[in-house]
Amino acid sequence: MEPLVAAIDQGTSSTRFLVFNAKTAELICHHQVEINQSFPKEGWVEEDPREIMQSVYECMERTCEKLCQLNINVSNIKAVGVTNQRETTLVWDKETGEPLYNAIVWLDLRTQSTVERLINKAPGQNKNHLKHKTGLPISTYFSALKLRWLLDNVAEIQDAVLDGRAMFGTVDSWIIWCLTGGRNGGVHCTDVSNASRTMLFNIHSMNWDPELCRYFDVPMEILPKVRSSSEIYGCMKSGSLAGVPISGCLGDQSAALVGQMCFKEGQAKNTYGTGCFLLRNTGTKPVMSEHGLLTTVAYQMGKDEPACYALEGSVAIAGEVVRWLKDNMGIVQSSSEIEKLAAAAGSSYGCYFVPAFSGLYAPYWEPSARGIICGLTQFTNRNHLAFAALEAVCFQTREILDAMNQDSGVPLTQLQVDGGMTSNRLLMQLQADILCMPVVRPTMSETTALGAAMAAGAAEGVQVWTLSPDQLPNVTSEKYEPQIHSDESEFRFGRWKKAVQKAMNWET
Ligand code: ADP
Repeated sequence: MEPLVAAIDQGTSSTRFLVFNAKTAELICHHQVEINQSFPKEGWVEEDPREIMQSVYECMERTCEKLCQLNINVSNIKAVGVTNQRETTLVWDKETGEPLYNAIVWLDLRTQSTVERLINKAPGQNKNHLKHKTGLPISTYFSALKLRWLLDNVAEIQDAVLDGRAMFGTVDSWIIWCLTGGRNGGVHCTDVSNASRTMLFNIHSMNWDPELCRYFDVPMEILPKVRSSSEIYGCMKSGSLAGVPISGCLGDQSAALVGQMCFKEGQAKNTYGTGCFLLRNTGTKPVMSEHGLLTTVAYQMGKDEPACYALEGSVAIAGEVVRWLKDNMGIVQSSSEIEKLAAAAGSSYGCYFVPAFSGLYAPYWEPSARGIICGLTQFTNRNHLAFAALEAVCFQTREILDAMNQDSGVPLTQLQVDGGMTSNRLLMQLQADILCMPVVRPTMSETTALGAAMAAGAAEGVQVWTLSPDQLPNVTSEKYEPQIHSDESEFRFGRWKKAVQKAMNWET
């Protein structure tokens, strides 16, 4: 039996555990569990860290059962990688092993007033004044702001910090700490890709930055140790996989970049999940954007390897607009049903939907923007709204792709895509039409998990996978070619941009 490598993919809307053949990258089996998000106040988004861990354990055990049913011994799993929703912020007690508050999810807007205050007192009121160290603008999006809120507002966390019991982490750190033993010797670490999303990490020195920690008034002793994305962090302490090394760790967007084999400078991928994230590999040099993109650490494949960087266009709301139409508006029963409605409409008939529920991220970085639907007539029905929602995802991608092309000077000629939403074929065709370029989707769409598995399998001491370009697995894909004239897509994109201006200035 060829060696197997597994990955935990802990996303915003669900957790998955997947097992791959380390030679062919074939997906052998998997299990998925949905995660509940809670919205305790307007703009707040939380998840329960215990539920996250429960879902991880459940997915691992159920997948191991499925392996047994396939007559495959779980001892063939040589390593496990972790990939995760980024920025989502947790603090827990290292003595009790219990979380001290819910996880504050990356989309959460509760720190908007803090962001505005920090920008107002920054030199020249420049939201990018920490960008030279972090690659990021000051925004509600990143962990430092969420951690500051926790330190200011949760008495249990203040006490735990004073007693030296508090541990901060993004979701990767929480999962690895729990799986490696928790309060009985769990390993408190993160990888460079996740660390680079906290705003406390210097992406040049590749360390926590004392000046940034002082700026956000974060005690450095609560931070995890920063490691590379591919090395043995520790071993599973219990369950069917006890003893198996955890040897890969990547933020979900970095993992998708790896899973799409974008190892060369200039290669890019766009992932459509809760949000939508276009990352372009810029090699070992961090490139600063002039057009509203982030500079982020993509991965570091081993502790003695150089880090690779990426330019990133982040869109807060992509699949989340479909969830909203389902759960808040009740216009569909399931996410996949949206495709049928949109197909029945065939067009939005002049309706534009800017789902700026969490402000607007790239390229605008405007936390006060709010969602709007405009161009409504008596003719508009839920099918048109469904179409406009999907089209919004495509327009937002067009905006970040345009910014990426302006920054790099070498335009992309086709877009590699993945993520939960890409099973929607109408969305894929619409995306090709709006971009006026082919969209290419791998047949095996679990590229995020594949990337984490590759990092785990390639780690020193595991080495059942090689990341050398000539030995990478061959992945098959399907291609969507543009089917409308570019004049038509330019016209619709122009209208979209007007709608965005309204979403940004809706109060004035
Ligand atoms: P994440 O990793 O952020 O949890 P996934 O990649 O699992 O996200 O994708 C789930 C998201 O995609 C959900 O927001 C869901 O509403 C959306 N989604 C899933 N299937 C479809 C579909 N067929 N059409 C449109 N949206 C979909």
